[in-house]
Amino acid sequence: MMLLPWQHQNWEQLCNYRTQNRVPQALLISGKNGLGKRHLADLFAASLLCVKPQDNGLACGHCDSCHLLNAETHPDFIRINPEEPGKAITIGQIRSLVSRLTLKPQFESYRVVIVNPADLMNNAAANAFLKCLEEPAERSVILLITDKPARLPATIVSRCQKLAVAKPDKDIVAAWLNQQAAKDEPGLLLSLAQGSPLLALDYANNGTLKLRNDCFKAWMDIAKQRTHPAIIAEDWYKLPESLLIFWITSWIIDLIKCSYQIRADKLYNPDLKDSLQELSQQLELKGLYKFYDLLLMRRQLLDTQINKHTMFEEILITWFELNLSK
Ligand SMILES: [Zn+2]
Repeated sequence: MMLLPWQHQNWEQLCNYRTQNRVPQALLISGKNGLGKRHLADLFAASLLCVKPQDNGLACGHCDSCHLLNAETHPDFIRINPEEPGKAITIGQIRSLVSRLTLKPQFESYRVVIVNPADLMNNAAANAFLKCLEEPAERSVILLITDKPARLPATIVSRCQKLAVAKPDKDIVAAWLNQQAAKDEPGLLLSLAQGSPLLALDYANNGTLKLRNDCFKAWMDIAKQRTHPAIIAEDWYKLPESLLIFWITSWIIDLIKCSYQIRADKLYNPDLKDSLQELSQQLELKGLYKFYDLLLMRRQLLDTQINKHTMFEEILITWFELNLSK
């Protein structure tokens, strides 16, 4: 596994922990979605477990420890994820972690636990987890990963060392995207992904850009009364909802920017500037702000059991009416 080109500084900090023999018992790795936090944590875990890491700090890839880790059978490596995507990390999972940590590590080096996303521990799990921090286990390191650090209890955050993965430099990422086969428009992809490289790569590889373009077209059709919002809602509630809300929010922010005549290269969707600029002249700012508030409120509910069909109907009908009232 390779270091991502924008993570050199973070990697240096991690390597210093090891070479200076002050590896923290708990490290909170935070940063926006799509910056490669899990990748960084995996590299660090491999490096801590490896018998003889390379000069650059990365795991050797050849020792017994590296082989066991690659086969996902290393006894001193524990990964805690939600049992189902989007669900909470449960107290049962944390209790079994706590009891495993009471045993000695089986190998000579560190034992590593990765909890990802740490903010998905429910209250009971988080309380149980505190025990791991209050009574540190022998030669054990816990890496907590989150893009929502504010959702973690202060009692946990205050007991962790922190490592923030910063938004990378645009040129470095554009070059990297180019190497990764996203040859078409790395600049546009990165802008759509709001600066997150892995998200941008996902856009390039998984047809996400086409989906976004199709959705924008439907969105414009509603604005121009060429179609009914309920018909589009019928399609949209089957799509990845957080991505859709993310897109709609970015279109509204861009419409507000257009109303203030902000330069096109400062938009999240520079490729859509003509449509957005034209539309912004027909919409009232007050209505756009109100709609933006609605999107923020609905976004908060995405992790709950909200009825997505009803949610998209509400959003699209509001959008339809906003365009009628101009
Ligand atoms: Zn190794």
